[in-house]
Amino acid sequence: MIELSEAQQLIRRTVRNFAAAEIEPIADRMDREDEWPGHLWPMLGELGLLGVTIEERYGGSDAGLLAGVIATEELARASASVALSYGAHANLCANNIATNGSEAQKERYLPGLCSGAEVGALALTEPEAGSDAVGIRTTAAREGDVYRLNGTKMFITNGSEADTLVLYAKTDPDAGSRGITAFIVESSFDGFSVGQKLDKVGHRGSPTAELLLEDCLVPVGNVLGREGGGAAVMMQGLAVERAFLAGEPLGIAQAALDAAVAYARERRQFGQRIGDFQLIQAMLADMYTELEAARWLVYRAASVVEQRAAQGERANKEAASAILYSAEMSSRVADKAVQIHGGYGYMSESRVARYVRDAKLLEIGAGTSEIRRLLIGRELVGPE
Ligand SMILES: Cc1cc2nc3c(=O)[nH]c(=O)nc-3n(C[C@H](O)[C@H](O)[C@H](O)COP(=O)(O)OP(=O)(O)OC[C@H]3O[C@@H](n4cnc5c(N)ncnc54)[C@H](O)[C@@H]3O)c2cc1C
Repeated sequence: MIELSEAQQLIRRTVRNFAAAEIEPIADRMDREDEWPGHLWPMLGELGLLGVTIEERYGGSDAGLLAGVIATEELARASASVALSYGAHANLCANNIATNGSEAQKERYLPGLCSGAEVGALALTEPEAGSDAVGIRTTAAREGDVYRLNGTKMFITNGSEADTLVLYAKTDPDAGSRGITAFIVESSFDGFSVGQKLDKVGHRGSPTAELLLEDCLVPVGNVLGREGGGAAVMMQGLAVERAFLAGEPLGIAQAALDAAVAYARERRQFGQRIGDFQLIQAMLADMYTELEAARWLVYRAASVVEQRAAQGERANKEAASAILYSAEMSSRVADKAVQIHGGYGYMSESRVARYVRDAKLLEIGAGTSEIRRLLIGRELVGPE
């Protein structure tokens, strides 16, 4: 049983009110126009959300992982796009620097990321390397006080807007996972540029970009962790990243359920509310039950991941199962919400249709459902 603390309940109320006032009114337009809501970043910073897992001395609010999950859930209820960009910034970038950075790196990068003056991203995926992250081809060759980076990154959330990126490259292309190094890259560095801005079916307004590194010069002091230690940085962060992102499908599913209940009360056929038909009630009951199951699975996983991390251990299967179930649940719930809306649900301006488009990404991004199943299965069976 998990009881939310006073602080966690306060975060939920604060983010819910903020999202209702500032995000809800622009969410449909963001989706339609693929519009990046950059003006929200200083506001999210002001609320302490961008540094939710970061110590106060670097500008964070140090409210913890579960608070970050709840914030993600409440943002996603109004706009999955804002929640995704928030996660890329606050978790993939800022939390990664807080966990693996040197004192100098934390002092240099975290205050701007926590306040929202700067936008963060994480760049791992490449055109030829998605699930097979160790197969990245971007190279980083040391030349005195700098590394020279060459390569292409693909599908990077916030990529076109980011000032600060955690970026993975190969310092020794023949050494497999031991040849990967994590860097902190500023978009102002020579040789860094944004390639295509990608046009997606969902999460519109959360920018996704291709990034080009053409003789991009990165100071030696911007290695995150140590040279060759990139895989350790990547692995260490995975459970936290999966638990954090697992809040997003909860918010999408809650929005879909709310919309379906409202429509079931309002729409009349055969002289009565469609919500009075037991087949519609059965769909609503399944949606509610699956969402409740996912919510407590995700909250528990966040608590376990945080406790284990404090002991220097990882809770990989707990985090992977939370996001696996939560992501697939939100697709099922959003699909039923469209069904309950009938033909109106299938129109392009329909909100519930947006929830279906948004939910699908959570089965693909940050490790696909297949990779999550592989990871859980492998851990359950264990080494021979
Ligand atoms: C909107 C969006 C935002 C993203 N944001 C970021 C970001 O901010 N930073 C970042 O670095 N990346 C980001 N990504 C990339 C994302 O993490 C990858 O898309 C994901 O890891 C899958 O890689 P892929 O697309 O290359 O698919 P592939 O790896 O090519 O997979 C294709 C299919 O093969 C399956 N498959 C692959 N390997 C196996 C296996 N061993 N066993 C069984 N099935 C397998 C997959 O499950 C999938 O069904 C984003 C992607 C999207 C779409």
